[in-house]
Amino acid sequence: MNLQTCIPAISGPLIQDKEDEPPSYFALTNPIEVEDKTFTEPSRFSNLLFVEQSKTQHVNLVSKRQFRKFFFPQITSKEWNDWHWQIQHRIRTYTQLSQILQLSYEEQIAIKRLGTRLPLSITPYYMGLLSRDNPMQPIRRTVVPTLSEFLKMPGEAEDPLGEETQSPVHGLVHRYPDRVLLLVLDFCSTYCRYCTRSRVVGHNAIYPSKSRLEKAIEYIEKTPTIRDVLLSGGDPLTLSDDRLEWIIKKLRSIRHVEIIRLGTKIPAVLPQRVTRSLVKMLRKYHPIFMSLHFTHPDECTEESYRACAMLADAGIPLGSQTVLLKDINDDVNTMKSLMHHLLKMRVRPYYLYQCDPILGSGHFRTPVEKGLEIIHGLRGFTTGYAVPTYVIDAPEGGGKIPLMTDYVVGHDGESYILKNFEGNIYRYPDQYVSRSKMIFRDQ
Ligand code: SF4
Repeated sequence: MNLQTCIPAISGPLIQDKEDEPPSYFALTNPIEVEDKTFTEPSRFSNLLFVEQSKTQHVNLVSKRQFRKFFFPQITSKEWNDWHWQIQHRIRTYTQLSQILQLSYEEQIAIKRLGTRLPLSITPYYMGLLSRDNPMQPIRRTVVPTLSEFLKMPGEAEDPLGEETQSPVHGLVHRYPDRVLLLVLDFCSTYCRYCTRSRVVGHNAIYPSKSRLEKAIEYIEKTPTIRDVLLSGGDPLTLSDDRLEWIIKKLRSIRHVEIIRLGTKIPAVLPQRVTRSLVKMLRKYHPIFMSLHFTHPDECTEESYRACAMLADAGIPLGSQTVLLKDINDDVNTMKSLMHHLLKMRVRPYYLYQCDPILGSGHFRTPVEKGLEIIHGLRGFTTGYAVPTYVIDAPEGGGKIPLMTDYVVGHDGESYILKNFEGNIYRYPDQYVSRSKMIFRDQ
């Protein structure tokens, strides 16, 4: 069945040929051709479309094009690459989803029972990355609800980080002395099932109204210790350029605000949002930093590469935030592959988060030991830049606490006993040596 039957009527010419596609970030040599007739058979369709996607960018490119041709046949490249179109045509209902994916029984029941929980929303672009018939595909699990969301485990809470208790103004969290988190809105183009702010996100709880934002900005203005403002939400890049600029401009006019950061998942779920006009606007307000949310190597498509390249070229330092998720990215090879992609995208791996204990997140959480094991498997075995800091955001507003495998074995007199990445033991003479032990060097 064609998705066009369940989304608003869309007119426009059919895609004519490859020339209709946007320019690729990669030079394509010998691209793999897949014939349209592939799509007459669902089983072949799913195999060709998704299973191979991590192996080569060429296959991935062809697959996404075929997905669009099959499910959105009337849509031009211009429309597809328009972020407004992507947002307007998010997949949000059971009917829409079931026409694209072969839903498992668990998924079907969960979606029908969602009620007032975190809503379902997936951009058509991101849908094109999902496996059609495998509910266990890592990135599919991050956005398609399952029954496990309805189970509560000990220690879980609606607001595990205690953000509400540290909000002097609605939507502004002041936890650390010199920086604040400004939640500009509660809307995201695609909702992650493990979202720390699922209590507000998608619920019309935080609206980007001028009056609310003015109150928050006034608080920042009156608090000279604040030198760093992080804009988050929801996803701040889902605001129009004008509305986003209004906020950034106001903040930039405050003398003690030194840096402005934006937290976003846009380059992974809606890379079309990174437009020339957006980066032109952002670069006027440097220093601007961005924390990008990536979860799995399958998100690192040519479109994501292109979006990150545009941001990096605009002089925006890019860091990544990744949540450690069970059976999604909780093994060394997957994490290493993601970190390597990020470096190639000029994104410095920054934080690896232990998944916060929000309600119904038990199926996503790994033991802390698993996170330590992954960091241990990266440190020394790959570029130091590729190793993020593994942190637990402490419950009740304690802030981020870094965790590391113990490389300090102990002390022996004035020496430190250390263990390297391979487990070999070394003795390091500490800086302090008593004068009585000093000797003259010959030269
Ligand atoms: S993008 Fe961020 S704020 Fe939005 S649903 Fe995902 S984790 Fe939550």
